[in-house]
Amino acid sequence: MYKQFGISDEVIKMAKIAEEQVQDVFNKIDEICEYNSLKVLNAFQKYHVSDIHFNSTTGYGYSDIGRDTIEQVYSEILHTEDSLVRSQFISGTHALTVALFAFLRPGDTLLSICGKPYDTLDEVIGIVDNPSSLKAHQVKYEQIDLINEDFDYGKIRERVSQKNVKLIEIQRSRGYSLRDSIALDKMEKVIKTIREVNQEVIIMVDNCYGEMVDTIEPTDVGADVIVGSLIKNLGGGIAPNGAYIAGKKELVKLAAERLTSPGIGKEEGPTLGINKQFLQGLFFAPSVVASSLKTAVFASKLLENLGYETKPKYDQKRSDIVQTIIFHDRDKLIKFCQGIQMGSPIDSNSIPEPSDMPGYTDQVIMAAGAFTQGSSIELSCDAPLREPYVAFLQGGLTYEYGKLGVLKAVELIMK
Ligand SMILES: *Cc1c(COP(=O)(O)O)cnc(C)c1O
Repeated sequence: MYKQFGISDEVIKMAKIAEEQVQDVFNKIDEICEYNSLKVLNAFQKYHVSDIHFNSTTGYGYSDIGRDTIEQVYSEILHTEDSLVRSQFISGTHALTVALFAFLRPGDTLLSICGKPYDTLDEVIGIVDNPSSLKAHQVKYEQIDLINEDFDYGKIRERVSQKNVKLIEIQRSRGYSLRDSIALDKMEKVIKTIREVNQEVIIMVDNCYGEMVDTIEPTDVGADVIVGSLIKNLGGGIAPNGAYIAGKKELVKLAAERLTSPGIGKEEGPTLGINKQFLQGLFFAPSVVASSLKTAVFASKLLENLGYETKPKYDQKRSDIVQTIIFHDRDKLIKFCQGIQMGSPIDSNSIPEPSDMPGYTDQVIMAAGAFTQGSSIELSCDAPLREPYVAFLQGGLTYEYGKLGVLKAVELIMK
């Protein structure tokens, strides 16, 4: 069967070795998965999730008890006062945009404390000019870069003690950069530092790719509000779209009034048949995140053994599901992405090519042979075409499928 799939004996042998070397890491991932499963199950039981909640509304979507229960369950799992979990959010970027426009007013300052935020926020913030950006609405932007893979605590303390920063953005995941994801103990430390000098500033975490990688979430270490996509971790590969914003009640209300309308807020939003998929996706999420992590850890070790530079290392503490492989070589990078596509269940006969994408400045290549378009909790690999030619690999609905996809990609770069 491996031969039929195009995997050579040599690659099978290398895979076996790598897999043996990562078992201790896999065991830790299983422990976290069980803990998070318990969190999910407890929340479902506490709010008496029942098949009545799989029904849905149309039109305005008033009194959708499924939707309201989903939001209670999310709040319970994320330990927040409230949450907004909606299919009316097109993507994570959209939810982040709604949150930023909801919380910031003309004259306010947005401060990012882990360097430049995710690429798709460039035009939202106005780092790249856009007449609809926050900048065009007179919202100022500042950033403090990370130093040696950690926050610049001194600079942050000095800046936020001046009081005129309205919102601090922390991005948990590495995004399209080569820095580490931010561990929650570091996040706790920086939030404490901020709170020592400023109690008012809103602390918002872009939690994309981070959910359920650990046993706690940023809201457990003091973040006011977190934002994430449902075609990533918490959708569990089942949610067909959507995103969430969870946190302090008044912030969720502001976000809801920006998503729908002032005065309407959370009260409207038809679910159009999506409730069951949101619930079932959340139910699968701990396990799917664990599979993604195992796929990442396996890929990291296998490619390291083959002489490639990988980050994070297989046994490094992770706070997101992203694995990077630094190829320093344009063609190898493209080949690897094409191999991931060839190892996918959907569109395995398509060959991805670098192209321009809305929201991204460099050309991007994206391998995504996924059931849900663009879903990156499913095995996927993307890369902006720029030095040092880094592949960003993530997802894997099951470890076995994740591993097979990685083997196919490895086979292709070894040719
Ligand atoms: C994916 C991602 C986003 C944007 O989410 P989309 O759903 O792709 O719009 C934002 N921030 C980070 C860190 C991400 O990984």
